[in-house]
Amino acid sequence: MSVTEIRSKESILKDLARRHEPFREIVERFGLLICRQADLRAELPAVDLAADAYDEDRFLNGEPLIAFVDPEAFGPLLRQAASRIWPLLGITFPALHETLNHLERRLDADTAWMGSCLRAVVHGDGEALEQAAAQAGVSPDFLLMALRAAYAPCIAAHKTPLLNMAPAGLWRKPYCPVCGSDPDLATLETHPDPSEFLISKSGAVWHHCPACTHRWRFVRLVCPGCGNQDHERMSRLTPAENSREHLYVCDQCRQYLPCLDLVEQAEALDLDLAALGLVHLDAVAQSRGYAPLSPAPWTALGLTEEQAKAS
Ligand SMILES: [Zn+2]
Ligand SMILES: [Zn+2]
Repeated sequence: MSVTEIRSKESILKDLARRHEPFREIVERFGLLICRQADLRAELPAVDLAADAYDEDRFLNGEPLIAFVDPEAFGPLLRQAASRIWPLLGITFPALHETLNHLERRLDADTAWMGSCLRAVVHGDGEALEQAAAQAGVSPDFLLMALRAAYAPCIAAHKTPLLNMAPAGLWRKPYCPVCGSDPDLATLETHPDPSEFLISKSGAVWHHCPACTHRWRFVRLVCPGCGNQDHERMSRLTPAENSREHLYVCDQCRQYLPCLDLVEQAEALDLDLAALGLVHLDAVAQSRGYAPLSPAPWTALGLTEEQAKAS
């Protein structure tokens, strides 16, 4: 299935806001952010990521392609993206405006601090994140959310050259082979695949990366959060009003992943907006005490504006 721009993101968002009235504000605010990120990923200049350290064995053993890239390569891009994304976040969340302003100035002025931020967001370096958050006087969760919002278009703009280095079709890990992010959405799809004699009618599981937008195949009946294969401890919840929307929840790690069944879907789906369109499932899962496998900005900031805070 290819993503075609038959409908504009604006018209899809209008529909989503209508369908999910209780979540209208979240859909509108974060819809704007997703649109800005999509524009930016098309506009950012391509830089040479110089992934000379690429090692196929390490990749096939589960190291995502970004592990072979020096985080500093993203410096100028991250600055550029932050200057476009953070002011928008500051408008949608006025309580965060001042803090985001301060972070943006620091990103420009303090090279060492930016280095820590880059290691945190590009390579998932937890120590670098703690250090950068403490220096800026914000919580690590907030800093990571802000950095990810700006980094997403930077890595998305470079996913093709990275994928060209490796046999990415062989990847069956739960996290993204390009950037290592956890998926924000699973989809069930049937793809004609000559290597498979039997194609299950219920489709194969695909994962979508919220950062670089890559999609890859995963295995059924395994929890992507903890690898649990005990079916007694995993459930698929389906809301009564839409039999094609599901929540995979795991009682071993208490995490959830929303899922869309696309097996009989005829029209093209905008995958940038698909997870936001399942915000009502986030609310159901969280009310039952499950945590998102990939905390989208709308779940990281809390499902109401009053919960949004930086420290
Ligand atoms: Zn990715
Ligand atoms: Zn689990």
